[in-house]
Amino acid sequence: MSTIEREQFDQYMMPNYAPGDMIPVRGSGSRVWDQQGREYVDFAGGIAVNALGHVHPALVSTLTDQAGKLWHTSNVIATEPAIALARKLCEATFAERVFFCNSGGEAVEASLKLARRYCSDHYGPKKDLIIAFDNAFHGRSLFSVSVGGQPDYRAGFGPLPGGITHLPFNDVAALEAAFSDNVCAVIVEPIQGEAGVLDAEPRFLQAIRRLCDQHNALMVLDEVQTGVGRTGKLYAHEWYGVVPDIMATAKALGGGFPIGATLATAEVASSLVVGTHGSTYGGNPLACSVAAAAFDVINTPEVLDGVTHRRMLLEDGLQKISSRFDVFETIRGRGLLIGCVVSESWKGRAREFLQAAQDAGLMLLIAGGDVVRLAPSLIIPEADITEGLERMESAVAGLCAAEQKAASVS
Ligand SMILES: *Cc1c(COP(=O)(O)O)cnc(C)c1O
Repeated sequence: MSTIEREQFDQYMMPNYAPGDMIPVRGSGSRVWDQQGREYVDFAGGIAVNALGHVHPALVSTLTDQAGKLWHTSNVIATEPAIALARKLCEATFAERVFFCNSGGEAVEASLKLARRYCSDHYGPKKDLIIAFDNAFHGRSLFSVSVGGQPDYRAGFGPLPGGITHLPFNDVAALEAAFSDNVCAVIVEPIQGEAGVLDAEPRFLQAIRRLCDQHNALMVLDEVQTGVGRTGKLYAHEWYGVVPDIMATAKALGGGFPIGATLATAEVASSLVVGTHGSTYGGNPLACSVAAAAFDVINTPEVLDGVTHRRMLLEDGLQKISSRFDVFETIRGRGLLIGCVVSESWKGRAREFLQAAQDAGLMLLIAGGDVVRLAPSLIIPEADITEGLERMESAVAGLCAAEQKAASVS
């Protein structure tokens, strides 16, 4: 077999991504090795997906065990792994029914189709308005990108689905002004992830819940990024004292195996009757068995409380780096979804941190041009946190030294 090289990415893959030069070939826990054998600490977690790090033994043994039993049947046939996972999700959350799919965008798509269908069934076709928020991210299908609040992401893809309005995030007055009996659903992230790790204020989510109740509208939470232990609770809305009618979950749900799910109350779910929606792969036995194994590890006090402890360690370290180099204005988010807002002189340049970190052996994320984002494994060892912070400090030191040099030359 001929060797695989980075240039071939541009030769054979569509140009919608722009990955760096590094090609990882192996991972273990929160460490990753590239083609050249260089080792990295992983603070990126595959964008909040690898909740148990890389090749967690419980997931590997479940996957290999299931691989020797049954891979796929389609949804014409019921399987044990799907029923078992649905039961776990219902027992641990507000939900009473589950629909399985393969990604976050599909989970959002099903959530909104269900909301529309439910309102159409119960109140007629006029109650179709979906309220969404500026800068929100809900996926890349045409419906999910249309509820998303980043106009760039839907430019040139029209005509777009209608009946969607966007309001400013965390603005209760705007929400109250826009609400009416024509509202079918409000879709919101408890923490806007892609938009820069922006926390919803409790009073904002509570106002959504109250207005939905007053107007017979459905509250749809997009917990694709915040769910499955990421914030130190199984789902982030548990911090806010609100309960949705419908919830989309994915990313960490499969611990790295593709799966998504839409969760709902039995009352709302009853509108998704036979023939209304479906997915060939959704509820696939491999995906569901891995997700169930991940769920059993994550939904324990040790792991969930550990998230809060690890957050403290990381935030302390990041604050220390920032107080030495003055690179971060604030550190926000919850649990192990961490957003470091860069200070004034670094605005729009978050990507430079990503690159410098990679050169120092550390994988980070960004969320827009102003925020360095961390979404590591929920069980990242303390030694890896320490090592990762050291590498981050040397990356930041390098960036700042280069900046000073450039300033003194000019
Ligand atoms: C990642 C993400 C999605 C989309 O998930 P995909 O699996 O990429 O389709 C939707 N909503 C939120 C909040 C996300 O972070």
